[in-house]
Amino acid sequence: MRNLIDPHNTIEFLKSHGISAKKRYGQNFLIDRRVLDRIIEGAGITKEDIVLEIGPGIGTLTQALCEAAAYVIAVEIDRDMIPLLEENLAEYDNYRIINEDVLKVDPEALIREMGFEGRTIRVAANLPYYITTPIIMQLLESGLPAKTITVMVQKEVADRMQAAPGTPDYGALSLAVQYYADARISANVPPNCFIPRPNVDSAVITLERFEEPPVDVRNEKYMFGLIRASFAQRRKTLANSLKNDPSLGLSRGQIEDALAQMGLSADIRGERLSLQQFAALSDLLQKVT
Ligand code: SAM
Repeated sequence: MRNLIDPHNTIEFLKSHGISAKKRYGQNFLIDRRVLDRIIEGAGITKEDIVLEIGPGIGTLTQALCEAAAYVIAVEIDRDMIPLLEENLAEYDNYRIINEDVLKVDPEALIREMGFEGRTIRVAANLPYYITTPIIMQLLESGLPAKTITVMVQKEVADRMQAAPGTPDYGALSLAVQYYADARISANVPPNCFIPRPNVDSAVITLERFEEPPVDVRNEKYMFGLIRASFAQRRKTLANSLKNDPSLGLSRGQIEDALAQMGLSADIRGERLSLQQFAALSDLLQKVT
């Protein structure tokens, strides 16, 4: 097995295939053994599990996943990577590569079609940073029954996922992640753990999906619409942001009444509200629309 975690081997391997990392696909290849181990440990993978990997690249993490899991489904957008991946995974037979944009794949349907319904599903990935948030949102909202999602992301994005109300990092992503999962950072990762080096620090974060959401809300979709509108213009008050969103069709009076019923001031900003408060506001406003 080619040891891809050695930077020299990775550089030589890419060179021998006349390939250089593509910026447009966010290609930063992992070259640090400890970080690789942290992803595998953080994901809690066992020999019974099915793992969905996003962006396998040349297969550095994929090799370790094939060792640890029952089966690995790896979705890679870059066609140039496929022969390299196949070469590096030659000694395994427990994987399938799908050459697709992960945002165009329905992960739940994929698991079903492959006959893995009812198995423990986990996601593991060193994500391309240019589309981290859409990928996380897709995984959370798709109905994919993933027990854990362990991903390498920009440190700043990991902080946003864990942020508490009233802090500068708190926003729509924090609320979405915290509605679906318990988020835990397990490693901070400096740029020198990748080739080429990214311009930012990274972190490994595990999202452990709740069996039941921590709040009761009548219409989850409506609540997320409110949350998105509340953070669309961060400097505005919550009432102004909601009133300005035509898809909600709310008047200032309706919003201020609901806030008053919750004991909140009319000029409060969205970043002050907890998930519980957004759920309560959503139930109140849905009644009047
Ligand atoms: N897993 C490899 C590693 O750890 O060394 C590569 C990680 S690299 C940060 C991100 C990978 O995601 C690249 O291989 C890139 O081509 C792939 N990628 C980028 N956009 C994608 C998309 N929309 N769908 C699937 N894969 C994508």
